[in-house]
Amino acid sequence: MLDTPIEYLKGVGPQRAEVLKKELGIFIYRDLLTYYPFRYVDRTKFNTIREISEDLPHVQLRGTIQSIEMAGQKQGKRMIALFRDRTGMIELVWFQGATWMAEKLKTGTEYIVFGKASSFNGRMNMAHPEVSLYTPEAVNELSALQPVYNSTEKLKFKGLDTEGLRKIQRALVNQLQPAHITETQSPDIRHELSLMPLYDACRAVHFPANEQELGRARFRIKFDELFLIQLRLLRLNKVRAHSVHGFVFQKVGENFNLFFKDCLPFDLTNAQKRVLKEIRADMGSGRQMNRLLQGDVGSGKTLVALMSMLLAIDNGFQACLMAPTEILAQQHFETFRQLLGKTNVSIGLLMGSVKNKARKPLLQKLADGELNILIGTHALIEDAVIFKNLGLVVIDEQHRFGVAQRAKLGLKNITPPHMLIMTATPIPRTLAMTLYGDLDTSIIDELPPGRKPIKTLHYMETQRLRVFGFIKEQVKLGRQVYIVYPLIAESEKLDYQNLQQGYDNILHEFPPPQYQVSIVHGKLSNEQKEFEMQRFIKGETQIMVATTVIEVGVNIPNASVMIIESAERFGLSQLHQLRGRVGRGAEQSYCILLTGFKLGAESRLRMETMVRTNDGFELSEVDLKLRGPGDIEGTQQSGVMDLKLANLAQDGEILQLARQHAEKILDEDPSLLLEKNSVYSHLLVQQEKSRPNWSRVG
Ligand code: ADP
Ligand code: MG
Repeated sequence: MLDTPIEYLKGVGPQRAEVLKKELGIFIYRDLLTYYPFRYVDRTKFNTIREISEDLPHVQLRGTIQSIEMAGQKQGKRMIALFRDRTGMIELVWFQGATWMAEKLKTGTEYIVFGKASSFNGRMNMAHPEVSLYTPEAVNELSALQPVYNSTEKLKFKGLDTEGLRKIQRALVNQLQPAHITETQSPDIRHELSLMPLYDACRAVHFPANEQELGRARFRIKFDELFLIQLRLLRLNKVRAHSVHGFVFQKVGENFNLFFKDCLPFDLTNAQKRVLKEIRADMGSGRQMNRLLQGDVGSGKTLVALMSMLLAIDNGFQACLMAPTEILAQQHFETFRQLLGKTNVSIGLLMGSVKNKARKPLLQKLADGELNILIGTHALIEDAVIFKNLGLVVIDEQHRFGVAQRAKLGLKNITPPHMLIMTATPIPRTLAMTLYGDLDTSIIDELPPGRKPIKTLHYMETQRLRVFGFIKEQVKLGRQVYIVYPLIAESEKLDYQNLQQGYDNILHEFPPPQYQVSIVHGKLSNEQKEFEMQRFIKGETQIMVATTVIEVGVNIPNASVMIIESAERFGLSQLHQLRGRVGRGAEQSYCILLTGFKLGAESRLRMETMVRTNDGFELSEVDLKLRGPGDIEGTQQSGVMDLKLANLAQDGEILQLARQHAEKILDEDPSLLLEKNSVYSHLLVQQEKSRPNWSRVG
């Protein structure tokens, strides 16, 4: 029954079905049933026109229409109905479907009007309210918890505003029988958590009798959604643990010990020690490691990577590190060379720009096993890159790489190498559990000692001169400064104009020879970018004007000021990434956010959050609340987007619970063979059928 095409539902038909498919992706009954209300309103109460104010968001009125008139031309064409009750008058306005409404409404008839009032030119009016005839039956049908559905202009045009959607939803729910809904939880779990039966929940979420019933229905549906993702991820993890063997790195050997005793320029932080322990345990366990290492910018992930690689080498294996840009790869290579100077470990660097003459001997050494560590960009993935015995793959700033690219590195040995995936883009715990639930996670939640927290300030563009003054002070002190401009595909042309204009201003304000200014953006060739970058790294220029190309990983300790232009156009995580480019040296660092004077509430919250905290995880929580998971990198392929009712920003507790129970079930019955768990194995099979294969290697 739930697979019936939507056009067969009473009140739908072919035309409405067409828009439902196009606008909401509702093809069959089931799609409509899982199109949940986003809100409920109390429709048993009536307001009077006199009570209306802008603070009272939604009002329900009872009264008659005095007059109907059409006004305006073409685009501005609208229908205005004067509506009155015993306390006053208000204008009801329709822009869309104006003609149709004008024919439908009658003067002198009593109506129920529901909508949101706002003031326009000093007068209150209501645009596109819901209108229904005032009859005893209509009043009877009004409930304290009336569902409200999101609609679109095209749907409204076909009569499917929230009221229209409610009508067809009602038609569907009235037809629904318990036999149509397959229970998705075992009796055990239902009993243990006192879950509402799924059939009841499906009805009640649309037409609840009271708050309590609604609460239970929503809980049940959210639990199901989150549980299924967790079950799938944990199961994947278990399957991999059983079927995929990993190299066993038992020894802590010569290189590791030498490095630890003689080369390490500082003490490891406790967080670094803990994470290294976790990695060692993984790589000694006999199963393949798939570990995500999260740590804020500057928390010292590189060192953890390097020491993990030494473990691999001590056990007779090679290791590689893949970075997202040539600049970063180069930087890692230099760091490694310096740190490993006293050891016998040999390192190579492979990037697209490494020419054949240098490339051939490098690849030869790699194949012979002479090379212990290979660092590079995605050039590492190429087929020509053959390791003698690759044991550990480290991927830096993973969000820059696709799943497929990662997977390919995993195939560079017959037994898949251990995988360590590092990211400086913190994601909230709930999201991590859902995105990377199949990976084990380590977190470095401590910065090396002696770092001064970056001071973040928010200025209006009108205060730019002060900011210039500040830059001059800092340059005088010998510091270097980044000035970053937004660059967004949709407004690329304009953004480049802004960047160029900003650059000209800076040149004007900071003229040579006293000042030297670099500029780096995506339109430059790689060589030009590299050249400018190097000038800045060497300290030949003091100011770097750039787009977000400098966002990731670059480490220039002397650069201690980050100015972000039009900061309101950046998301929180991006702002945080940019800020992370400074604060790497011993000096006090600053991040200055420049914005326009008028800021929306959301932009203001972003700026305030940036000024308030340096904690990437805290920021990521705010980010998730503001943007929802859809815009956060990596979510598209994760199943997060299948969530219809559950919300990762709000339902952390339900998620915990769902994960606990999924774990418990799989611990007891890893292959889901027990009779009582047959619902689950069945569900997973169905899921596999209905979605693209999304299992992945690291
Ligand atoms: P990220 O986690 O952003 O990749 P890096 O690994 O680049 O951070 O480390 C940032 C800086 O901190 C580097 O200059 C590194 O040498 C330094 N560092 C790393 N670990 C420590 C430590 N335990 N004590 C002091 N400095 C450290
Ligand atoms: Mg790094």
